[in-house]
Amino acid sequence: MKPKVGFMGLGIMGSAMAANIFKAGYPLMVYNRTPEKAEKFALMGAGVASSPRALAHAAQVLIAMVTGPEALNELLWGKNGAGPELGPGKIFINMSSVSPKFTRELAEKLAPNGVAFVDAPVSGTKKPAEEGTLVILAGGAEAKVKELEPLFLTMGKKVIYCGEAGQGSMMKMTINLLLGLMMEGFAEALNFGRLGGLDFEAMLDVVFSGPLNCGLFQMKAQMLKEKDFPPNFPLKHMTKDCKFIVDTAYETGAPAPLGHLLLHLYRLGVSQNLGDQDFAAIAQVLGHLSH
Ligand code: NAP
Repeated sequence: MKPKVGFMGLGIMGSAMAANIFKAGYPLMVYNRTPEKAEKFALMGAGVASSPRALAHAAQVLIAMVTGPEALNELLWGKNGAGPELGPGKIFINMSSVSPKFTRELAEKLAPNGVAFVDAPVSGTKKPAEEGTLVILAGGAEAKVKELEPLFLTMGKKVIYCGEAGQGSMMKMTINLLLGLMMEGFAEALNFGRLGGLDFEAMLDVVFSGPLNCGLFQMKAQMLKEKDFPPNFPLKHMTKDCKFIVDTAYETGAPAPLGHLLLHLYRLGVSQNLGDQDFAAIAQVLGHLSH
């Protein structure tokens, strides 16, 4: 029998992921800080909880997909938070992108309660979330991850086991370092060529005709061309992840010179009011710096 799922955080990613869980036939209840975002779930026939605590009380498996540590702390340990309801027989899955250190500390904090904790951030953005083709980067007890695979596969096409709790977050930060660098590199090269008088379409033709062609560049080319950046992955979220990356690099001793530069550039984007736009708007930051 499918377990009762409680899903908190109905933003760009969470609303699509929760909808796919419901479509796959799991009994679903949702919670979101801004209640209006839960309305479409009530119309679908899912339950809507009045607080994170009520959600955790009703659910066997509780999932969080929120901005980051602040939001998680609020939902777990704030007023009517879910934390006190998490005990033996329950499973808590954090799918939000947070730092490995935060995840390890959360695992330690939850361990005495007897709840099973799984660290499962995702690779993929809005469209894969809608299509159920995310890649789930799972950390925690391997047997628990295996047990949860059918649930994960309602949201994703693949589950990759990364190690103990914290290693899912470590994998997520590794991938987002690469993602942030590739996006900045693409935008920087196109801006460089533009200021040197090259035609935009001709530059794309060259990139897409050779070994540099990739899904990310294909996906973002239109945004860069039209200078219009509707948020798939908001720039403010990439900025937060860059902070987790440089903090983690400091802890592990890994050199991350470009990681530090990325944090600086994406933060400039936030200060230029680009935070709610897609992270491809890093191109605008470079545009503002051009003269
Ligand atoms: P989003 O659209 O900004 O949604 C954020 C969610 O967090 C909303 O439900 C929001 O509630 C909730 N939230 C924020 N602060 C809160 C607080 N203090 N208390 C309670 N709830 C709070 O973000 P998203 O794009 O879905 O991303 C969610 C997570 O997935 C982030 O960790 C992000 O880095 C990660 N991620 C995103 C993508 C992507 O492409 N978008 C891809 C992979 C991973 P309200 O509705 O009330 O504001």
